Amino acid sequence: MTTVCERCKREIYRTETCNYCGRKIGTECIKASQRANKITRLVICKDDWSKLAVRAMYKNKQAPALAAKPAKA
Ligand SMILES: [Zn+2]
Ligand SMILES: [Zn+2]
Repeated sequence: MTTVCERCKREIYRTETCNYCGRKIGTECIKASQRANKITRLVICKDDWSKLAVRAMYKNKQAPALAAKPAKA
Protein backbone atom coordinates (compact mmCIF):
# COMPACT_ATOMS: atom_id res chain seq x y z
CA MET A 1 0.00 0.00 0.00
CA THR A 2 1.41 3.35 -1.00
CA THR A 3 0.46 6.86 -0.18
CA VAL A 4 1.17 10.24 -1.70
CA CYS A 5 3.57 12.81 -0.35
CA GLU A 6 1.68 15.97 0.56
CA ARG A 7 4.60 18.12 -0.53
CA CYS A 8 5.68 16.78 -3.92
CA LYS A 9 2.67 14.55 -4.68
CA ARG A 10 4.91 11.63 -5.53
CA GLU A 11 4.01 8.15 -4.45
CA ILE A 12 5.83 7.15 -1.31
CA TYR A 13 6.09 3.97 0.68
CA ARG A 14 6.93 5.39 4.03
CA THR A 15 5.57 8.62 5.45
CA GLU A 16 7.07 10.96 7.97
CA THR A 17 5.20 13.90 9.40
CA CYS A 18 6.86 17.27 9.35
CA ASN A 19 6.70 18.68 12.86
CA TYR A 20 6.49 22.22 11.56
CA CYS A 21 3.79 22.17 8.90
CA GLY A 22 2.15 18.88 9.82
CA ARG A 23 2.20 17.46 6.29
CA LYS A 24 2.86 13.83 5.63
CA ILE A 25 5.93 13.68 3.47
CA GLY A 26 8.32 11.17 1.99
CA THR A 27 11.96 10.84 2.88
CA GLU A 28 13.06 12.81 -0.19
CA CYS A 29 11.22 15.88 1.10
CA ILE A 30 12.72 15.71 4.57
CA LYS A 31 15.53 18.17 4.91
CA ALA A 32 16.67 16.96 8.32
CA SER A 33 15.58 15.07 11.37
CA GLN A 34 16.91 14.83 14.85
CA ARG A 35 16.06 13.41 18.20
CA ALA A 36 15.13 16.24 20.56
CA ASN A 37 14.93 13.96 23.55
CA LYS A 38 14.22 10.32 24.36
CA ILE A 39 10.69 10.35 23.03
CA THR A 40 10.52 13.21 20.58
CA ARG A 41 11.89 13.10 17.09
CA LEU A 42 11.79 16.29 15.08
CA VAL A 43 11.35 16.22 11.33
CA ILE A 44 11.61 19.31 9.16
CA CYS A 45 10.71 19.44 5.50
CA LYS A 46 12.57 21.32 2.80
CA ASP A 47 9.96 24.08 2.68
CA ASP A 48 10.21 24.80 6.38
CA TRP A 49 13.99 24.64 6.27
CA SER A 50 13.95 27.65 3.96
CA LYS A 51 12.03 29.66 6.56
CA LEU A 52 14.58 31.15 8.90
CA ALA A 53 12.32 31.33 11.94
CA VAL A 54 11.28 27.72 11.56
CA ARG A 55 14.82 26.54 10.98
CA ALA A 56 15.96 28.37 14.12
CA MET A 57 13.27 26.57 16.06
CA TYR A 58 14.49 23.25 14.71
CA LYS A 59 18.08 24.05 15.59
CA ASN A 60 17.00 24.83 19.14
CA LYS A 61 15.26 21.44 19.23
CA GLN A 62 11.92 23.09 19.67
CA ALA A 63 8.68 21.73 18.40
CA PRO A 64 6.24 24.33 17.10
CA ALA A 65 3.50 25.71 19.28
CA LEU A 66 0.82 24.06 17.19
CA ALA A 67 1.97 20.63 18.27
CA ALA A 68 2.22 21.62 21.91
CA LYS A 69 -1.19 23.22 22.06
CA PRO A 70 -4.04 21.11 23.37
CA ALA A 71 -6.55 20.31 20.66
CA LYS A 72 -9.51 22.52 21.32
CA ALA A 73 -11.69 24.53 19.00
ZN1 LIG B 1 7.74 14.51 -1.31
ZN1 LIG C 1 7.11 21.18 6.90
